[in-house]
Amino acid sequence: MMKPRISPDRLWGRLMALGKDGALPGGGVDRQALSAEEILAWRRVIAWGAEAGLTASTDPAGNLFLTLEGKFPHLAPVVAGSHIDSQPTGGLFDGAFGTLAALEAVTAIAEMGLTPERSIAVVAWMNEEGSRFAPGMMGSELFAGLRTMDEVMTVRDADGISVGEALKSVHDAFPDVKRRPLGFAVHAYIEPHIEQADLLETTGAVIGVVTGIQGKKTWEITISGREAHAGTEPMDRRQDAVKAFAAMATKMHAAMDVDDLVKFTIGRAEVQPNAPSVVPAKVAFRIDLRHPDNDLLDAFGTRIEEIASAEAGSCGVSVRRLVDAPSNGFDEGLRSQIRASAERHGFAHLDLLSAAGHDARQMAPLTRSAMIFIPCRDGLSHHPDEWAEPAHVAAGATVLLDLLLQEAGVSFNQGDA
Ligand SMILES: [Zn+2]
Repeated sequence: MMKPRISPDRLWGRLMALGKDGALPGGGVDRQALSAEEILAWRRVIAWGAEAGLTASTDPAGNLFLTLEGKFPHLAPVVAGSHIDSQPTGGLFDGAFGTLAALEAVTAIAEMGLTPERSIAVVAWMNEEGSRFAPGMMGSELFAGLRTMDEVMTVRDADGISVGEALKSVHDAFPDVKRRPLGFAVHAYIEPHIEQADLLETTGAVIGVVTGIQGKKTWEITISGREAHAGTEPMDRRQDAVKAFAAMATKMHAAMDVDDLVKFTIGRAEVQPNAPSVVPAKVAFRIDLRHPDNDLLDAFGTRIEEIASAEAGSCGVSVRRLVDAPSNGFDEGLRSQIRASAERHGFAHLDLLSAAGHDARQMAPLTRSAMIFIPCRDGLSHHPDEWAEPAHVAAGATVLLDLLLQEAGVSFNQGDA
């Protein structure tokens, strides 16, 4: 038996074809979670999987699995993939690359008539992006037991449609796709993804060996003051929510200006009543804080909450924690395999930390997990111009195939490798 090889042309052709589902007029895609466009994308990848003999299944969380059954189906499967939903102005590679690279690697095994010892499941997680239904990573968080079905299914989009309703329309569109219970034991999880930053590009590396994902905390802070006439209310009697917000924002930015690794953002602020001649009664704002060091992340988080209480002035303040995800490290054994594979194929590789969140963060506490990054042009992502070179796409899938052969136990004649 020869060693299986991926088909770079087939993988590239499929990436381009998937880009038609939700295609934007000027390039890129709008294929948000559980949308009609994502149903089209499901149809496409399920058909491609069927050609290779993979069985499609879906769980109550709306995750999609395409499984190549192993010799010993009772053993925990190896799972590889990513997501196929996108931002409203997304590119062709974020998520899609990981799921289609996994599909390509498994297809390469299946089309040679090889049967792995363990089953291999290609996954497309539900709502990674979180743009239509916030927050993202719903499918992998449900799979990992980090959220309850109730709290996820009742989340509504801007049109008032709930996750539960949208998911029902997806499931109804696929009556023949097998239903499976939520969650199962996984032998190893591997997620290929574009880097979404430019470290690989600037160093000339092709394969990123992801050491971990930096931790993230988010808050919604609400400052409550009192509306009053901007011309008559004495300054010393005002409960001006914008004044308090400005003080908090300034202090927080100053307090976070400690090292190059901390990333602190106030990305949204809503003022009420937002009228030019009314003393503002309320400001609700969001904070996104990230740092690779968990102790520092916790310390900065505490500082933010202290500043929020201390700088409210004459206003009231409420602090609500939304996301509290520590940094995680990926499995050293899988990372060594990625490096070894890259070296065998002559792909320059680089160890790097993922600054962005991925579904692999949820999988890492459950099972040995890893991520394989490939470069994307100028580090640009979440943008219609997002681009990865065909050779890099092929390289990522080639390395993934090596890991799947090893992890799922595929026998072939090493002499032909
Ligand atoms: Zn992604």
